[in-house]
Amino acid sequence: MNTSDLLHIAQTYGSPTYVYDAEKISSQYERLTNAFASVPKMKLHYAVKALSNVSILKLMKKLGAGLDTVSIQEVQLGLAAGFDASEIMYTPNGVSLQEIEEAAQLGVQINIDNLSILEQFGSKHPKIPVCIRINPHVLAGGNHNISVGHIDSKFGISIHQVPHVLRIVELTGMHINGIHMHTGSDILDIDVFLYASEILFSTATHFKELDFIDFGSGFKVPYKKDDIQTNIEELGEKLSKRFNEFCHEYGKQLSLNFEPGKFLVSEAGYFLTEVNVVKQTTSTVFAGVDSGFNHLIRPMLYNSYHHIENISNPEGRERYYSVVGYICETDTFANNRRISEIREGDILKFNNAGAYCFSMASNYNSRYRPAEVLWYQGKAHLIRKRETLDDILRNQVDIDFSPVKKKKNIPKEV
Ligand SMILES: *Cc1c(COP(=O)(O)O)cnc(C)c1O
Repeated sequence: MNTSDLLHIAQTYGSPTYVYDAEKISSQYERLTNAFASVPKMKLHYAVKALSNVSILKLMKKLGAGLDTVSIQEVQLGLAAGFDASEIMYTPNGVSLQEIEEAAQLGVQINIDNLSILEQFGSKHPKIPVCIRINPHVLAGGNHNISVGHIDSKFGISIHQVPHVLRIVELTGMHINGIHMHTGSDILDIDVFLYASEILFSTATHFKELDFIDFGSGFKVPYKKDDIQTNIEELGEKLSKRFNEFCHEYGKQLSLNFEPGKFLVSEAGYFLTEVNVVKQTTSTVFAGVDSGFNHLIRPMLYNSYHHIENISNPEGRERYYSVVGYICETDTFANNRRISEIREGDILKFNNAGAYCFSMASNYNSRYRPAEVLWYQGKAHLIRKRETLDDILRNQVDIDFSPVKKKKNIPKEV
């Protein structure tokens, strides 16, 4: 997929539009599985919340992935996309016992992340195998907005509470078939990751009926040139060796699982917007595009960097711009960026728009959510139509404001 393909997509499907490159998704999938080729049993569960279009889920299925889901709706979406329940991991946080029971009924792998639900679920359904989410309290990565490994995190059962887990398991007779961690959204340091893995291994020795160990995700992908990214090959080499050793000690070949979201889809995505206005103020040149944080919230929410290129004028002289949206609220995509000269009507391409972009989009300002296009085998395929006013009105219920007949005036008592 090259620049002229992208311009053609913007012409055909309008703007703003998300575009995903199937080939990049496939190559990331291959890269991760190849890095762990020496592990006899390995499974990737794609984290649906990163990008949940059904066509993307079907592509993941074709590649051989299962799914990692965080809500009953994501479970249902996975089933609708044709996944077998046994390929779906359900890792909710803070949901009701009832929803967990509903998911268990559908046959998916339950992952429980607090003692209260563990005890209730185990008492009622001791026969249903359950994975437990452990918080090893290891902080992998430095961005405080998205780190989940710290001691007061709402995620996972603290490693210090394992004795309580063991008591619940013994008293209920429940069957723990997996151990899980997801330490944070940005693994920078392989040693930190391996350290957390050791904690998981030592926890795993307490449970005799395991089928898998799930190391979560948080692989870092580059957003800028020269950005640090997780060295998957090095991690693969070190963790595979240690995992195989552990299985030998444990006396059973377990499955090594990961649940990548960002790693599989972030770099495969592009967001195309059109420039409505170029506005010069006393200190800045704003390029105002036909989108906003309603469509791509990461810069405002996480201060994330998304590289922006002017694909309508790639050879233009570079100037400094602030790229902003059209929402009636501050919605800055980028500050003081060098971009080749922007003219009104130009198409700007945002990189790394595959993960947590469309899936976080909203209708704020009553704007339609964008179209989505999958570039697959050299052709563009529309995989989600742009919304229309009908979508905005769909669940709104009219009430009757026509004048109501007044009751007769009853004179007030004096
Ligand atoms: C969000 C999430 C993931 C995916 O994280 P990425 O950083 O996108 O790879 C994996 N597992 C769980 C439990 C998650 O909540």
